[in-house]
Amino acid sequence: MDNAKLLADLRLEMVTVCQKIFNRGLTSATSGNLSARLPGRPEQVLIKRTGKSFGDVHPEDFLLVDLEGNVLEGEGKPSKELFFHLAIYRRRPEVNAVLHGHSPYTTAYVLAKGELPLVTVAAELSLVKVPVVGYAPPGSQELAGMVGTAFEEPGVKAAVLLRHGYITVGQDCHGAFYLADVLEDNAKTAFLLAQLSR
Ligand SMILES: [Zn+2]
Repeated sequence: MDNAKLLADLRLEMVTVCQKIFNRGLTSATSGNLSARLPGRPEQVLIKRTGKSFGDVHPEDFLLVDLEGNVLEGEGKPSKELFFHLAIYRRRPEVNAVLHGHSPYTTAYVLAKGELPLVTVAAELSLVKVPVVGYAPPGSQELAGMVGTAFEEPGVKAAVLLRHGYITVGQDCHGAFYLADVLEDNAKTAFLLAQLSR
C-alpha cells in the first residue's frame, strides 16, 4: 500500500476514535491528544494538532512527525504534548498509539488518594498497574522525561498525571481508547465504592 493511502486511512480511523473518546467524556473542550504510528513505518507518527477539540476533528487536523518531532506533513502546530508521546514511542517499539485525555474521576481520585486502586476485574486484567506521574507543567520537557520513565517498564499501559489527566497506550488507536474507558470506569467505580463503604 502506498504512503498516501496509509496516511489517509489512518487519519480517518483517528477521527472516528477521537469522536468516540469525546462522546464517552474521556476528555473535555480542546484538551487531550491522540497519536499513532503509520503502519509499516514505525518512525513516523500522526498526532492531532494543537487547539482542536476531539469532538470536532477532521482528517487534516493530524500532522505527520518523525520521532525527533520534526513536522513532515500537515498545517499548523502539533499538540504541545508531542514530547511525551515521542518519549513513549522511543522506549516502547510495540506501542503503536498513545492517547492523553483529561477525565474527572481518574484525575480527582488520584489527587485525593495519591493512587488509583484497580477495583474492577476489567481494570485488573487489562491495566495490571497504573503508575502516578508527579506534577510538571503541561507541554514541558520535564513532564516528557517523567512520562518516559513511567512507561519504561514494558507492562505499563496506563499512567495518571497528577492534577492533569491520564495516558494510555495500545497496539492501535482503538486499543488505547478502550483502556482509557476501562481506566475511567474503574475510577468511577472506586469512587462509588468509597462512598458506599462509609
Ligand atoms: Zn493534558
